[in-house]
Amino acid sequence: MHDPLPQTRHLATAIPGPRSRELMARKTGAVAAGVGTTMPVFATRAAGGIIEDVDGNRLIDLGSGIAVTTVGSSAPRVVTAVTEQVAAFTHTCFMVTPYESYVAVAEALNRLTPGAHPKRTALFNSGAEAVENAVKIARSHTRRNAVVVFDHAYHGRTNLTMAMTAKSMPYKHGFGPFAPEVYRAPSSYPFRDTAPDGGGDGAAAAARAITSIEKHIGAKNLAAMVIEPIQGEGGFIEPAPGFLPALAVWCREHGVVFVADEVQTGFARTGDMFACDYEGVVPDLIVTAKGIAGGLPLSAVTGRAEIMDAPHTGGLGGTYGGNPLACAAALAALATIEEDGLIARAREIEGLMKPRLHVLRQKDDRLGDVRGRGAMIAVELVRPGSTEPDPTLAAAVAQSAHRAGVIVLTCGTYGNVLRFLPPLAISDALLGEALDVLESTLTTVPR
Ligand SMILES: *Cc1c(COP(=O)(O)O)cnc(C)c1O
Repeated sequence: MHDPLPQTRHLATAIPGPRSRELMARKTGAVAAGVGTTMPVFATRAAGGIIEDVDGNRLIDLGSGIAVTTVGSSAPRVVTAVTEQVAAFTHTCFMVTPYESYVAVAEALNRLTPGAHPKRTALFNSGAEAVENAVKIARSHTRRNAVVVFDHAYHGRTNLTMAMTAKSMPYKHGFGPFAPEVYRAPSSYPFRDTAPDGGGDGAAAAARAITSIEKHIGAKNLAAMVIEPIQGEGGFIEPAPGFLPALAVWCREHGVVFVADEVQTGFARTGDMFACDYEGVVPDLIVTAKGIAGGLPLSAVTGRAEIMDAPHTGGLGGTYGGNPLACAAALAALATIEEDGLIARAREIEGLMKPRLHVLRQKDDRLGDVRGRGAMIAVELVRPGSTEPDPTLAAAVAQSAHRAGVIVLTCGTYGNVLRFLPPLAISDALLGEALDVLESTLTTVPR
């Protein structure tokens, strides 16, 4: 066993240190150039709110490996469950000789996801794979082809999900042709919405999207509407209140399968078990991954039994989907979320972060918008006093935070959003220190 990882920021070398520089040189020689890294440091250990690198630096983690290690990167229940499972067996293939943990994960997701209707679940490996399967299931159920997605959407990097993702660079550029029958509708982005109502009216924004969908696609051709309840890579964009409920109602009226992509927002991240819970939206299908299994690769589609059961036997699956190690990890991660009260913890984190960021925004007009819920918080950076995106500033702040030992990520269609996704296992002290670093970073980056 390892000694416990001290929950303190510590800079032993410059960032990156010599060992990380050596490894980065090997990476360049061995790993495809298309696989980039946010930070040039190599990890050795991670726990709570700290990632330790090969040079002995301890960095504060505000990224959770992109919203994955919500329960922590070595959560005790997950470590025990996976260790026991790996000694018992690593794989049989659920489609060959099934095992109980897969069924237990399906039961847990059926219980925890929005809505009390009868549900079924199917397990896969990645978020993109689950999104693809949700589309397959919706098409099989409706016998229709078209899929509608939204401006600023991110749904993955496989061929179908590249078509569903909005942003060309870096996700789609040069990788076409893309899957057909994917259409894009206008979204709700209150900070940037130029509608006469100022974008604050979610029902009006939904009406604009619905008009576009009816004109360009036609409800009768539409199998599914796929939407992130808070857009992730697109910039942590919370739609105006009423937007999601109005879309869900329209889908129901027209026999369109309403699919919530909660790959990034799921599992307590936003201060609810699922982001849809915030406005009481009940999706027909919900797609989950990232935070589901404490870092092991697992994803799921969960939804109405009659829709989920539409595909023929053998039509869904995959060699590794619902791997026993991932299922053991998921059961342990879900127990951690429920038994350790992590939904409440996510709300506490919002309460620690947002007021400080709002104060910063009052002092610095380069902070255009502070938004997000729970432990999914973002700051949109702009040219002073305008709404003009400032991606250069976002990159400069992130880089200087990295050098100071704080891991922050950027996102957004315009690349100008700093996003904070701390593990829910982070301490108040570390979170406060990370905010101190960000604040002093912002004041030192020239206007
Ligand atoms: C990350 C993400 C995906 C893709 O998940 P992968 O596991 O990377 O394939 C899909 N949808 C959303 C909303 C995501 O954040």
